[in-house]
Amino acid sequence: MEKRISGTTGLFTLLGSPVGHSGSPAMYNFSFQQQGLDYAYLAFDVKKDQMPEAINALKLFKVRGSNVTMPCKTVAASLVDDLSPAAKIIGAINVIVNDNGKLTGHITDGIGFVRNLKENGVEVAGKKLVVLGAGGAATALQVQSALDGAEAISIFNQDDDFYQNAEQTKNKINEAKPEVEVNVYPLADQEKLKSEIVDADILVNATIVGMKPLDGQSLVDKSFLRKDLVVADTVYNPLKTKLIEDAESLGCTTAPGKGMLLWQGAAAYTLFTGKEMPTAEYQAYEAEQAKVKQ
Ligand code: NAD
Repeated sequence: MEKRISGTTGLFTLLGSPVGHSGSPAMYNFSFQQQGLDYAYLAFDVKKDQMPEAINALKLFKVRGSNVTMPCKTVAASLVDDLSPAAKIIGAINVIVNDNGKLTGHITDGIGFVRNLKENGVEVAGKKLVVLGAGGAATALQVQSALDGAEAISIFNQDDDFYQNAEQTKNKINEAKPEVEVNVYPLADQEKLKSEIVDADILVNATIVGMKPLDGQSLVDKSFLRKDLVVADTVYNPLKTKLIEDAESLGCTTAPGKGMLLWQGAAAYTLFTGKEMPTAEYQAYEAEQAKVKQ
């Protein structure tokens, strides 16, 4: 790596807190090296209240672009100069592109979700989705699915602070894409969940249930699933949630969260470099690294 760094090397960053666990530096640096790009990617632990300074620093140091992670995605959206259409609706960003001092914010989580489905042979256009969750990942994928032509989206959330997010997302989608039918229901209404899944094409878990330490749990009774339902999860740790395992055991097409993570990163890479990320090569490298660690 040190052989690659020179006086002209362009910097990309990750801003958020914590960032020490992030796989992004490894993925982007591998890809830059693969494609012979004179770039390097580093993670910086930045708290929400430090974001105004961090954004100024991106300009000062002519940082080419940055990812933004929790808890800074919303505040970052309020600090950049311009927003992509999806970021405007969502009000949060995970990517900043520095175009000669003008910072534009994008959100690629929803793009990664849609691409992950596509890679598994599933289009969202014309489909009815049932989505569990109303947090950051849920909002991004709900808005992107609507922008990409989903027919209907039924959102279920537990009775917590996120519930009102779902109502807001419904209103925002109604404004931007009035032809998409969006409904919001309490997760506690299991009869409604069951009946909404009956005529849905795609079921998505976008809550933290299934993620460590809630692994082994699923919000959907296995009896609500059927073979021709596509089942997706945003959770990527563990790689297969209980929901994904239940769906696989019934022969459903599934789209686990790891794919969404890869493709949201690949979409950011394209915004950063104008090139397709060498995803196949990176996946092979990751698999090799996992073997070495065993
Ligand atoms: P968030 O904190 O913004 O939202 C959390 C959601 O989980 C809310 O809807 C909340 O109501 C719900 N929830 C929490 N506890 C619950 C419970 N006990 N029962 C039912 N619902 C519950 O989180 P987020 O950033 O949207 O992340 C959600 C999941 O998506 C996490 O596992 C995260 O790692 C994952 N994620 C994946 C990607 C990807 O690229 N694959 C991207 C972003 C987030």
